[in-house]
Amino acid sequence: MVDPRPYCRLAKILCILAFSTITSITFSAAIEKTDIVFVLRGQNETTLYPIKNSFQPEAASVLAGLSKISFGKVSSVEIFDGGIDSNETGYKASREDIDPASTTHDVVVVGAGSAGLYAAKTLNEYGYDVMIIEATNRIGGRIKSESLGDMRVELGAEEHYRATGDNPVWSAVRDAYGESIYVSPYLGSTALSMDGGSNTCWRENFALRPCRDDSDVATFDGFYDWYWEPNQHLDADSSLAEDVASKYGVDVSHRAYHLYDNGFAGGSYATNLDQLGARSLALQSNQWDLSNSTQTLGDKDLGYSDVLETLWWDDVVANSDLLLSSPVVTIDTSGDDVVITDSSGARHAARQVIVTVSIGVLQSEMIDFIPDLPEATIAAYKGIGMDMGMKVPMRFSSAWWETEGEALAWLVTEGLAGACWVPSDYKVASSSHILMCYPMGDNGTALNDIAVAAGGAAAGDAAIIDAILADLDRTFPQALGLASANYVEGIVQNWGADPYTLGVYSYPKIGTYTTASDSRRRDLQDPVANGRVFFAGEGTHTTHPSTVPGALHEGERAARAVHAINTLYPSSCSLDCFSFNIDADEELEADALTDGLLVIRHLFGFSGDALIANATSNVATRQDAAEITIYLNDAESELDIDGDGEARALTDGLLLIRYLFGFSGNSLISGAVSETAARTSAEQIETYISARIPAS
Ligand SMILES: Cc1cc2nc3c(=O)[nH]c(=O)nc-3n(C[C@H](O)[C@H](O)[C@H](O)COP(=O)(O)OP(=O)(O)OC[C@H]3O[C@@H](n4cnc5c(N)ncnc54)[C@H](O)[C@@H]3O)c2cc1C
Repeated sequence: MVDPRPYCRLAKILCILAFSTITSITFSAAIEKTDIVFVLRGQNETTLYPIKNSFQPEAASVLAGLSKISFGKVSSVEIFDGGIDSNETGYKASREDIDPASTTHDVVVVGAGSAGLYAAKTLNEYGYDVMIIEATNRIGGRIKSESLGDMRVELGAEEHYRATGDNPVWSAVRDAYGESIYVSPYLGSTALSMDGGSNTCWRENFALRPCRDDSDVATFDGFYDWYWEPNQHLDADSSLAEDVASKYGVDVSHRAYHLYDNGFAGGSYATNLDQLGARSLALQSNQWDLSNSTQTLGDKDLGYSDVLETLWWDDVVANSDLLLSSPVVTIDTSGDDVVITDSSGARHAARQVIVTVSIGVLQSEMIDFIPDLPEATIAAYKGIGMDMGMKVPMRFSSAWWETEGEALAWLVTEGLAGACWVPSDYKVASSSHILMCYPMGDNGTALNDIAVAAGGAAAGDAAIIDAILADLDRTFPQALGLASANYVEGIVQNWGADPYTLGVYSYPKIGTYTTASDSRRRDLQDPVANGRVFFAGEGTHTTHPSTVPGALHEGERAARAVHAINTLYPSSCSLDCFSFNIDADEELEADALTDGLLVIRHLFGFSGDALIANATSNVATRQDAAEITIYLNDAESELDIDGDGEARALTDGLLLIRYLFGFSGNSLISGAVSETAARTSAEQIETYISARIPAS
């Protein structure tokens, strides 16, 4: 190590800055104002390499010294022609210099819901070292079971899709618990509140008011054969409310509108009729590929989250590192590693990250991506719907709703309750009377407002339940006021207000699908940051979104995509590879201190040992200097990265080595693009190089 003092006399301020922010600095030789200086700043040290005017001989040893040095995370690479002075460097340590990552893993999974846990499970099976970072203090996400009365109630997902279309839960649960674990839900008859409750009808021929006598209800029955047909919904800009108005003459003022709105849009898509894109919904529904039939767990002591924890999640947690109560706030791909920062400031480095947060969380932009996500990704998550809503199970002292002596399969109300059903009827041996209500979209928003006005927390929940009871009190003419009179206790699970879900589940709005194969869900599947950031969750599934199997399948898809990228043959590029192939030594990946260094040395005119010393890796298939020189000579036109007609060390070589160190944006191109370049922006340079990088 050379004493830095002579240089300090030349650039006092630079030295003060440097020594105050980094732990060690090495000068490879005394630096003079006429030198070309190659500055490599890293986590462990910063080294300034002078290359004298007659640089060839010195440069050989200087650049040879660059290889295999433990810089840790390199945060900048600069070449200064004519030395460095304090005015031109902007020489500040980045955060990476002073604050190394707290943890390092192969892959970080953000979110411990179905998609995240299944991604981790798949990655564990491939042998990856995985960290799962979860915002809340529990795993499971939108699968959440709690006890009410004598049974487990589902505050999130409840229905299990049968075998058709590969629902991995179905077979795993039956194998573990026996076929009889599953029972048919929604026992009995459906009741539809009409005319403020005064004409509530039952789909029961012997009912006091059978629904077959109500022609508006009969019209609604035809809706289910119509809504999912794309050729019935050709206008890409029409909401389902508009299509219903033109097809059935039912608009928001119609006495049966709530059947379409609360009953269908709320009950199935967790939103309102006017939020659903008619054509998007038809394109999505028409390619539905799970079973149309569902069942639920019949054991009153077993919830959805209980069985998945036993079947899979306990193992996943045992085989991964799990951080709970640690919302991710930043995902930074500007360096070699992806660095994920949580709200405590802890930094987690990984090669790749799978982000499984909900569409609502993505839309809230609570996670800061550095650099910004591509416009197509932002347009993708903004182009998918996600609305307010909640699940409210309530326990009563009697089944007061059975006004026709019939079990209640499904109820649609005209008010804030929306749609309700009776899970205690199908939980075998339960003696509780539990009605589950499902206020979605505008109902969810209105109830949330009521809760906020009441002061939130327990008072807010009580206000929500009072408002729902008021709706139920007037729904059955033979049971007026009996909901409130029989109420015992309840739970409010307000998904729309949950800060780490921000909605119930995704739905197709206008523009979500433009064709069956072109959708914003599909767009969101595209990895970003050169195959280092992946999105997965129920919202990214194109044919069965908004379901548990959809989330599981997406977690698995993303994990497989990660693995595919890590194991692809090196010359697989997204465009035709460089004919020279940036992976100049044909190692398994393009690397700054091997490939980048070989190219920059070659462009400085080195050959023989000076070219390759310490710059080819053990696994490289091309290690002979002459062979590498021929290879790089052949590639000269493609090495002209800025497109100025010439491949040069101080522009093209520097651009490449910076890129391979993970720089982007201004820190990639600053001072490294020639005045006559055809590619001048960072984006153009990044696109040019990334398309020619082996997929590793
Ligand atoms: C009320 C309701 C009823 C449903 N009914 C059914 C049903 O009957 N059948 C069915 O199959 N599906 C149903 N679903 C849908 C199903 O629950 C979801 O599709 C599925 O659980 C979503 O899984 P996911 O992993 O995509 O998202 P999530 O389960 O939401 O997981 C995402 C995770 O990311 C975490 N997170 C968010 N932000 C951050 C951050 N910044 N940092 C770290 N972690 C973060 C969240 O806390 C969460 O744990 C229902 C959902 C709801 C809400």
